[in-house]
Amino acid sequence: MNETRPTKSGWIEVVVGPMYSGKTEELIRRLRRAQIARQRVEIFKPSIDVRYGADHIVSHSELRIPSRLVPTATDILAHADEAEVIGIDEGQFLGPELPRVANTLADQGKRVIVAGLDQDYRGLPFEPMPQLLAIAEYITKTLAICMVCGEPAGRTQKHRAEGGRVVVGGAGLYEARCRRCHTVPVEDRAGGQAQAKPAAPPVQEIA
Ligand code: ADP
Ligand code: ZN
Repeated sequence: MNETRPTKSGWIEVVVGPMYSGKTEELIRRLRRAQIARQRVEIFKPSIDVRYGADHIVSHSELRIPSRLVPTATDILAHADEAEVIGIDEGQFLGPELPRVANTLADQGKRVIVAGLDQDYRGLPFEPMPQLLAIAEYITKTLAICMVCGEPAGRTQKHRAEGGRVVVGGAGLYEARCRRCHTVPVEDRAGGQAQAKPAAPPVQEIA
């Protein structure tokens, strides 16, 4: 990864994986290095995510870095003018405009780093992250440890179907699981989620 100061050409970096896979740690690591290099950094997270207070991005391992709350991706543009490096956490909650906004910022010569879930708790692609992955220059996929068998885990297990895709955090509600140990809550299957398990989710066709 080229971490030199952005000059004429910006770019988009995306960090994706399930919950607990270290996306936020990796985002904070990259942003701290940019700050140490005295680059101007602006950091954003969706206002839906106020788990650990409104003014910081915080990892599950308690790393933290100050950030600004935005309701949608478009709101980032108003605060990005001076920045050379833009950090965005929980990109899956920032709405369908996120790829366009990231493109606009990268076209202005900025380094744009976005972390987010690539799959929802059913193992299905979580918009708009697939669209963002398609236009990114650099992609990092992080894996967690499966809480059932200890293998590398690419999926997020949800223990209850309540709240759909956008229940944030929730102690005990989510767990990292591998492909073999991951299941979709029964309520969800009964609820007519045609693409959910046991039918093969689209993501499996990529492999
Ligand atoms: P993410 O942003 O992907 O949810 P974080 O960066 O917030 O991940 O947290 C990663 C940290 O979570 C790990 O360094 C570890 O301390 C902790 N952790 C808790 N459960 C797991 C797990 N099942 N696998 C890996 N790390 C875990
Ligand atoms: Zn497993």
